[in-house]
Amino acid sequence: MTMKNMPEDNFKHQGMRKKLIETIRAKGIDDEPVLEAMMRVPRHFFLDKAFLNQAYDDQAFKIGAGQTISQPYTVAYQTSLLGIKKGEKVLEIGTGSGYQTSVLLELGAKVFTIERQKELFDKAKKFLPGIGYAPKMFYGDGYKGLPSFAPFDKILVTCGAPFIPADLVTQLKVGGIIVIPVGAGEIQTMTTILKTSETGIEKHELKNFRFVPMLEDKAWGK
Ligand code: SAH
Repeated sequence: MTMKNMPEDNFKHQGMRKKLIETIRAKGIDDEPVLEAMMRVPRHFFLDKAFLNQAYDDQAFKIGAGQTISQPYTVAYQTSLLGIKKGEKVLEIGTGSGYQTSVLLELGAKVFTIERQKELFDKAKKFLPGIGYAPKMFYGDGYKGLPSFAPFDKILVTCGAPFIPADLVTQLKVGGIIVIPVGAGEIQTMTTILKTSETGIEKHELKNFRFVPMLEDKAWGK
Protein backbone atom coordinates (compact mmCIF):
# COMPACT_ATOMS: atom_id res chain seq x y z
CA MET A 1 0.00 0.00 0.00
CA THR A 2 1.45 3.35 -0.99
CA MET A 3 -0.12 6.46 0.41
CA LYS A 4 0.51 10.09 -0.27
CA ASN A 5 2.92 11.68 2.22
CA MET A 6 3.45 8.34 3.89
CA PRO A 7 6.68 8.38 5.91
CA GLU A 8 9.43 5.99 4.83
CA ASP A 9 9.68 2.44 6.17
CA ASN A 10 12.86 1.05 4.64
CA PHE A 11 15.10 -1.99 5.23
CA LYS A 12 16.94 -0.19 8.01
CA HIS A 13 13.69 0.48 9.89
CA GLN A 14 12.49 -3.07 9.27
CA GLY A 15 15.78 -4.45 10.55
CA MET A 16 15.52 -2.37 13.72
CA ARG A 17 11.96 -3.56 14.16
CA LYS A 18 12.94 -7.21 13.71
CA LYS A 19 15.54 -6.79 16.48
CA LEU A 20 12.92 -5.23 18.75
CA ILE A 21 10.56 -8.16 18.11
CA GLU A 22 13.37 -10.60 18.99
CA THR A 23 13.99 -8.65 22.23
CA ILE A 24 10.31 -8.95 23.15
CA ARG A 25 10.32 -12.64 22.29
CA ALA A 26 13.38 -13.14 24.51
CA LYS A 27 11.43 -11.50 27.35
CA GLY A 28 8.86 -14.29 27.11
CA ILE A 29 6.21 -13.26 24.58
CA ASP A 30 5.51 -16.22 22.29
CA ASP A 31 2.22 -15.13 20.70
CA GLU A 32 3.19 -15.28 17.01
CA PRO A 33 0.16 -13.39 15.60
CA VAL A 34 0.87 -10.53 18.04
CA LEU A 35 4.59 -10.46 17.23
CA GLU A 36 3.78 -10.52 13.49
CA ALA A 37 1.27 -7.68 13.91
CA MET A 38 3.91 -5.63 15.73
CA MET A 39 6.37 -6.41 12.92
CA ARG A 40 3.89 -4.81 10.51
CA VAL A 41 3.42 -1.53 12.45
CA PRO A 42 6.23 0.99 11.80
CA ARG A 43 6.65 2.29 15.37
CA HIS A 44 8.92 5.11 14.20
CA PHE A 45 5.93 6.73 12.45
CA PHE A 46 4.49 7.39 15.93
CA LEU A 47 7.49 9.33 17.24
CA ASP A 48 9.14 12.48 16.01
CA LYS A 49 11.72 11.82 13.21
CA ALA A 50 14.57 12.80 15.53
CA PHE A 51 13.86 9.82 17.78
CA LEU A 52 14.37 6.96 15.32
CA ASN A 53 16.59 4.94 17.66
CA GLN A 54 14.23 5.35 20.59
CA ALA A 55 11.36 4.14 18.38
CA TYR A 56 12.94 0.68 18.33
CA ASP A 57 14.16 0.54 21.94
CA ASP A 58 11.98 -1.52 24.22
CA GLN A 59 11.05 1.58 26.23
CA ALA A 60 8.07 3.84 26.80
CA PHE A 61 8.54 7.33 25.33
CA LYS A 62 7.06 10.78 25.87
CA ILE A 63 4.44 11.78 23.26
CA GLY A 64 3.29 15.15 24.63
CA ALA A 65 0.53 16.26 27.01
CA GLY A 66 2.44 14.47 29.79
CA GLN A 67 1.63 11.09 28.22
CA THR A 68 3.68 8.22 26.82
CA ILE A 69 3.60 5.65 24.05
CA SER A 70 3.61 2.33 25.92
CA GLN A 71 6.72 0.16 26.03
CA PRO A 72 6.62 -2.38 23.15
CA TYR A 73 6.90 -5.29 25.62
CA THR A 74 3.84 -3.96 27.46
CA VAL A 75 1.90 -3.62 24.18
CA ALA A 76 2.81 -7.23 23.30
CA TYR A 77 1.90 -8.45 26.80
CA GLN A 78 -1.49 -6.73 26.94
CA THR A 79 -2.35 -7.66 23.35
CA SER A 80 -1.51 -11.33 23.85
CA LEU A 81 -3.75 -11.44 26.94
CA LEU A 82 -6.64 -10.17 24.81
CA GLY A 83 -6.40 -13.11 22.36
CA ILE A 84 -7.89 -11.08 19.49
CA LYS A 85 -9.72 -12.89 16.71
CA LYS A 86 -10.41 -11.29 13.35
CA GLY A 87 -13.56 -9.16 13.31
CA GLU A 88 -13.88 -8.77 17.08
CA LYS A 89 -15.11 -5.46 18.46
CA VAL A 90 -12.49 -4.03 20.77
CA LEU A 91 -12.74 -0.96 22.99
CA GLU A 92 -9.44 0.69 23.88
CA ILE A 93 -9.15 3.29 26.65
CA GLY A 94 -6.22 5.66 26.07
CA THR A 95 -5.52 6.15 22.35
CA GLY A 96 -2.34 8.12 23.07
CA SER A 97 -0.12 7.90 20.00
CA GLY A 98 -2.37 5.28 18.37
CA TYR A 99 0.41 2.68 18.30
CA GLN A 100 -1.43 0.08 20.36
CA THR A 101 -4.58 0.86 18.36
CA SER A 102 -2.71 0.05 15.14
CA VAL A 103 -1.47 -3.28 16.51
CA LEU A 104 -5.08 -4.23 17.32
CA LEU A 105 -6.15 -3.24 13.80
CA GLU A 106 -3.36 -5.35 12.31
CA LEU A 107 -4.87 -8.33 14.15
CA GLY A 108 -8.14 -7.71 12.34
CA ALA A 109 -10.08 -6.15 15.24
CA LYS A 110 -12.69 -3.44 14.79
CA VAL A 111 -11.30 -0.85 17.15
CA PHE A 112 -13.14 1.84 19.11
CA THR A 113 -10.67 4.01 21.01
CA ILE A 114 -11.16 6.81 23.55
CA GLU A 115 -8.69 9.56 24.51
CA ARG A 116 -9.28 12.24 27.12
CA GLN A 117 -6.47 14.62 26.12
CA LYS A 118 -7.77 16.81 23.29
CA GLU A 119 -4.29 17.46 21.92
CA LEU A 120 -3.53 13.72 21.56
CA PHE A 121 -7.02 12.94 20.24
CA ASP A 122 -6.69 15.61 17.52
CA LYS A 123 -3.23 14.40 16.57
CA ALA A 124 -4.22 10.72 16.30
CA LYS A 125 -7.41 11.59 14.41
CA LYS A 126 -5.37 13.35 11.75
CA PHE A 127 -2.40 11.04 11.68
CA LEU A 128 -3.73 7.44 11.78
CA PRO A 129 -5.84 7.50 8.57
CA GLY A 130 -2.82 8.91 6.71
CA ILE A 131 -0.77 5.79 7.49
CA GLY A 132 -3.62 3.45 6.63
CA TYR A 133 -5.27 2.83 10.02
CA ALA A 134 -8.93 3.59 10.54
CA PRO A 135 -10.18 3.03 14.08
CA LYS A 136 -13.31 4.76 15.39
CA MET A 137 -11.87 7.53 17.54
CA PHE A 138 -13.62 9.32 20.40
CA TYR A 139 -12.67 12.28 22.58
CA GLY A 140 -14.11 11.45 25.98
CA ASP A 141 -13.86 9.75 29.32
CA GLY A 142 -12.79 6.13 29.34
CA TYR A 143 -14.46 5.47 32.70
CA LYS A 144 -17.80 5.76 30.91
CA GLY A 145 -16.82 3.59 27.92
CA LEU A 146 -19.05 3.90 24.84
CA PRO A 147 -22.56 2.77 25.85
CA SER A 148 -24.03 3.43 22.41
CA PHE A 149 -21.53 1.08 20.71
CA ALA A 150 -21.59 -1.65 23.40
CA PRO A 151 -21.31 -4.56 23.86
CA PHE A 152 -17.64 -5.24 23.10
CA ASP A 153 -15.86 -8.58 22.72
CA LYS A 154 -12.74 -7.26 24.40
CA ILE A 155 -11.75 -4.13 26.34
CA LEU A 156 -8.19 -2.88 26.76
CA VAL A 157 -7.19 -0.14 29.20
CA THR A 158 -3.77 1.41 28.49
CA CYS A 159 -3.58 3.72 31.52
CA GLY A 160 -3.28 2.84 35.21
CA ALA A 161 -6.78 2.56 36.70
CA PRO A 162 -7.31 3.14 40.44
CA PHE A 163 -10.21 0.63 40.28
CA ILE A 164 -12.15 -1.40 37.70
CA PRO A 165 -14.73 0.93 36.11
CA ALA A 166 -18.18 -0.66 36.46
CA ASP A 167 -19.39 0.77 33.12
CA LEU A 168 -16.67 -1.16 31.29
CA VAL A 169 -17.78 -4.45 32.84
CA THR A 170 -21.38 -3.65 31.83
CA GLN A 171 -20.28 -2.96 28.24
CA LEU A 172 -18.42 -6.27 27.91
CA LYS A 173 -20.07 -9.30 26.25
CA VAL A 174 -20.49 -12.47 28.29
CA GLY A 175 -17.42 -14.54 27.44
CA GLY A 176 -15.40 -11.37 26.86
CA ILE A 177 -12.26 -10.14 28.61
CA ILE A 178 -10.99 -6.84 30.01
CA VAL A 179 -7.24 -6.31 30.29
CA ILE A 180 -6.55 -3.48 32.72
CA PRO A 181 -3.60 -2.35 34.82
CA VAL A 182 -5.04 -1.70 38.30
CA GLY A 183 -3.39 0.39 41.01
CA ALA A 184 -3.77 3.94 42.27
CA GLY A 185 -0.06 4.54 42.94
CA GLU A 186 3.06 4.35 40.78
CA ILE A 187 2.71 0.61 40.22
CA GLN A 188 -0.20 -1.27 38.71
CA THR A 189 -1.01 -4.97 38.61
CA MET A 190 -2.03 -6.25 35.19
CA THR A 191 -5.48 -7.67 35.75
CA THR A 192 -7.80 -9.69 33.54
CA ILE A 193 -11.56 -9.73 34.05
CA LEU A 194 -13.47 -12.55 32.37
CA LYS A 195 -17.21 -12.02 32.16
CA THR A 196 -18.62 -15.44 32.96
CA SER A 197 -22.33 -14.46 32.99
CA GLU A 198 -24.47 -11.28 33.02
CA THR A 199 -23.63 -10.90 36.71
CA GLY A 200 -20.46 -12.94 37.15
CA ILE A 201 -16.79 -12.11 36.68
CA GLU A 202 -13.55 -13.96 37.22
CA LYS A 203 -10.53 -11.83 38.12
CA HIS A 204 -6.86 -12.73 37.65
CA GLU A 205 -3.93 -10.63 38.84
CA LEU A 206 -0.70 -10.95 36.87
CA LYS A 207 2.59 -9.01 36.70
CA ASN A 208 3.29 -5.46 37.85
CA PHE A 209 3.74 -2.54 35.41
CA ARG A 210 4.00 1.25 35.46
CA PHE A 211 1.43 3.22 33.46
CA VAL A 212 0.44 6.87 33.31
CA PRO A 213 -2.70 7.30 35.43
CA MET A 214 -6.24 6.88 34.16
CA LEU A 215 -7.61 10.24 35.20
CA GLU A 216 -11.03 10.65 36.72
CA ASP A 217 -13.55 13.39 35.96
CA LYS A 218 -12.43 15.53 38.84
CA ALA A 219 -8.89 15.47 37.51
CA TRP A 220 -9.85 16.74 34.05
CA GLY A 221 -7.85 19.75 32.99
CA LYS A 222 -5.00 18.96 35.37
N1 SAH B 1 -2.19 3.15 23.89
C1 SAH B 1 -1.32 4.30 23.94
C2 SAH B 1 -0.77 4.49 25.34
C3 SAH B 1 -0.99 5.88 25.78
S1 SAH B 1 -0.69 6.22 27.50
C4 SAH B 1 -0.22 4.21 22.92
O1 SAH B 1 0.00 3.15 22.35
O2 SAH B 1 0.42 5.23 22.63
C5 SAH B 1 -2.34 6.23 28.14
C6 SAH B 1 -3.28 7.22 27.55
O3 SAH B 1 -4.49 7.18 28.32
C7 SAH B 1 -2.84 8.68 27.58
O4 SAH B 1 -2.84 9.19 26.27
C8 SAH B 1 -3.88 9.37 28.48
O5 SAH B 1 -4.18 10.70 28.07
C9 SAH B 1 -5.08 8.46 28.32
N2 SAH B 1 -6.08 8.56 29.40
C10 SAH B 1 -5.88 8.81 30.73
N3 SAH B 1 -7.05 8.83 31.40
C11 SAH B 1 -8.03 8.58 30.48
C12 SAH B 1 -9.46 8.49 30.55
N4 SAH B 1 -10.12 8.65 31.70
N5 SAH B 1 -10.13 8.24 29.40
C13 SAH B 1 -9.48 8.07 28.21
N6 SAH B 1 -8.13 8.16 28.09
C14 SAH B 1 -7.41 8.40 29.20
